[in-house]
Amino acid sequence: MLKKVLVANRGEIALRVVRACQELGIRSVAVYSDADAHAPHVREADEAVHIGPAPSRESYLDGERIIAAAKAAGADAVHPGYGFLSEREWFARAVREAGLVWVGPPAEAIAAMGSKTAARTLAVAHDVPVVPGTTEALPDAAAAKKVAKTFGYPVLLKAAAGGGGKGMRVVRTAAELPEAWESARREARNAFGDDAVYVEKYIEGPRHVEIQVLADHHGTVIALGERECSVQRRHQKMIEEAPSPAVSPELRARMGAAAVRAAKAAGYRNAGTCEFLLARDGNFYFLEMNTRIQVEHPVTELVTGVDLVQWQLRIAGGERIPFPDTMEPRGWAIECRITSEDPTNGFLPSTGRIECLHVPSGPGVRWDGGVESGSEVGLHYDPMLAKLIVWGSSREQAVDRMHRALRELIVAGVETSREFHLRVMEDAEFRAGAIDIQWLERRLPSLLGAAPSVAERQAAAIAAALIADADRRGTRHTAQAVASESASGAGVASAWATLARREALRP
Ligand code: ADP
Repeated sequence: MLKKVLVANRGEIALRVVRACQELGIRSVAVYSDADAHAPHVREADEAVHIGPAPSRESYLDGERIIAAAKAAGADAVHPGYGFLSEREWFARAVREAGLVWVGPPAEAIAAMGSKTAARTLAVAHDVPVVPGTTEALPDAAAAKKVAKTFGYPVLLKAAAGGGGKGMRVVRTAAELPEAWESARREARNAFGDDAVYVEKYIEGPRHVEIQVLADHHGTVIALGERECSVQRRHQKMIEEAPSPAVSPELRARMGAAAVRAAKAAGYRNAGTCEFLLARDGNFYFLEMNTRIQVEHPVTELVTGVDLVQWQLRIAGGERIPFPDTMEPRGWAIECRITSEDPTNGFLPSTGRIECLHVPSGPGVRWDGGVESGSEVGLHYDPMLAKLIVWGSSREQAVDRMHRALRELIVAGVETSREFHLRVMEDAEFRAGAIDIQWLERRLPSLLGAAPSVAERQAAAIAAALIADADRRGTRHTAQAVASESASGAGVASAWATLARREALRP
């Protein structure tokens, strides 16, 4: 078993790893930038090492500094979380060469899955279905046109080195292709320093369904079922759930088996995720493998009962996976990413101090957060503040429970995505599970476009009066929380109830 783990990350995932360490009796070492000196992940860890100024390049992305911190602290392992250095092959290798255990897959597996064309080649060789297209980068637009003709438009141009939706262009006619080719290459060159582009068939209205895998160092590779991640904005996931409303036990078994084949082909170890597109006709296609723990891992944890982060640490320490090789989900779990973005203003990032944070609780509710009242939210890092995750015995109960939990949530001081999530939970199409990867972009205007009701306007006016009064009495925190709550309308009653209780308790 590992004894001391350095957590090379920040925010909610750093705290998540620290908590797993505590439960396993492993000592944890946090790292932090100037901006995070008072962050919860730093306080909760057993030790903490300052690694530099706020910009990530000089702190959370400075691999050498992080490895030096691990050695100085006497850690025997490094957990990278997600983002930052988690999928950098060189970092995984450097950690290993420093004599430390990397809590993740071998550098070679990261490399094998790091290029989309290489991953497609590997998948094809192991009987894992991929979207029709090439497995090699193409020399020019003319070659791309030729390929596109063989399976028909629309097609998708994709950067081989791609990630985060960059270097991707949908092309609907041959005439559009040359221009799209040039702009995809340009974007890929700027984002990845590599302008290799290939062609895929563009699948209309698919779902994004991914399979969680775990692999130990003794040859066992298992699939832990799927996550449905179709609620996306600009290729970014917003809401995830497990299981998927579109996956039967039979399909789950086939997708799980394909994911296990892909993982075995790459010599995979530890936790990873195979992403697939599930087409309307029921065919599924491998997209890529994420060689790390994912943001949305908790929904799988809630329906399987497997603590994935603990198992990352156990596997890295040499333990064997004790679970059966297929797992049926129990109940339903949903996750909403609570970000500091303003949904009514094009999801513009919002910054400032979190004046008041009231976290939902009660049956089936989990909060994986990285902030607290008093935290400063800046522009240096990802806008995700926390994840709100719920479990219910059915999808309907989970959706209702998420709605209830979102109504309990109060974040004052910065704008958040809370209101957006409330509207999604109320939406008839979402409630029916009738979603695909284009659903949110289609639905967003009507989700957010509803004019404020008379009740909402009245609530906002009362809230403004309360704030003015609170300023006189020095209790602005409470009033601001109520103001943001009541301005949204959806949670008016609960916000007033919260205030009434607090006022009643005031000495
Ligand atoms: P990235 O690594 O840049 O995130 P992915 O290959 O994972 O790129 O694709 C990102 C998203 O783009 C997917 O989740 C899906 O929504 C969409 N997408 C990718 N490939 C296709 C395709 N062939 N047809 C339709 N949509 C696609």
